[in-house]
Amino acid sequence: LAKQKGKNNYQFYNDQLNEKVKRRLYLENALRKSIENNELTLYYQPQVELSTRKLVGLEALLRWNLEDEHVSPAEFIPIAEKTGLIVPIGEWILREACRQISRWKDHPYLHVPVSVNVSARQLVEPSFTKRIYQILMEESIDPKYLKLEITESVMMDIEDSTSIVEELHALGLKIAIDDFGTGYSSLHLITSLDFETLKIDKTLVDIHNKRKMHVLKAIIQSMDRPVVIEGIETEEEFQVLKDFNAIGQGYYFARPLPPEKL
Ligand code: C2E
Ligand code: MG
Ligand code: MG
Ligand code: MG
Repeated sequence: LAKQKGKNNYQFYNDQLNEKVKRRLYLENALRKSIENNELTLYYQPQVELSTRKLVGLEALLRWNLEDEHVSPAEFIPIAEKTGLIVPIGEWILREACRQISRWKDHPYLHVPVSVNVSARQLVEPSFTKRIYQILMEESIDPKYLKLEITESVMMDIEDSTSIVEELHALGLKIAIDDFGTGYSSLHLITSLDFETLKIDKTLVDIHNKRKMHVLKAIIQSMDRPVVIEGIETEEEFQVLKDFNAIGQGYYFARPLPPEKL
């Protein structure tokens, strides 16, 4: 019986693995054609000043509609990174975001900085800053309307993140450290690296956890630049956080939306 069961378990494990591999290969293939097939779109999520609820920025978030299936970035971004497809896709994202900034140029409310997420793989491309410069020129965008979100862990992993950030600043771009609080949260990083915005990850935002609230408050008070609190979902959270002198982003204000719905 045990032998039988063991075999079944193995079979089960094997089937699951096969499904996983098949799914990854399917997505990888589809991802290669996704740009040409116009399956990629950017949604934008508002960032609001908590004290006034004024819109102060938008984060561009990639959406992929593959044959009526919505594939989550959490599933396909890692595949895009591993295969290197994030490089051409990332360029498409940057260009599309710049085009949108340009379309909003005369808009009474939406002419605000747009944040774009960038992966490690994109940052270490030797031609990364040059390509951004070309895109900025071609789309004739004022660079101060483009902010690049780089996660804390990527900043730590990349050897010359300081010089890459310097180059990006020289182009006039702004930098945000994303997902702060999920990695090692090094004091060295936030005291030595030059950046405009710190984004605190939603895992650190837990209004019923006193210690987390103290840490959150302390980080905001010690920062001489804007802090974005991610993942605000409820009225209750908003009430607690509204006097924290920060910017908020989360479903409570708005989900990521296509431009026409903003
Ligand atoms: P992220 O940059 O930290 O983006 C924030 C994520 O939190 C987004 O998920 C957003 O939809 C979600 N979110 C916003 N408000 C709330 C809230 O109130 N509650 C909860 N539970 N979630 C909220 P999304 O769009 O699924 O993206 C996941 C991650 O995928 C992003 O995390 C980012 O790391 C990556 N990603 C998304 N778009 C891009 C892109 O264009 N390029 C790259 N390289 N990465 C991207
Ligand atoms: Mg982000
Ligand atoms: Mg984040
Ligand atoms: Mg994240």
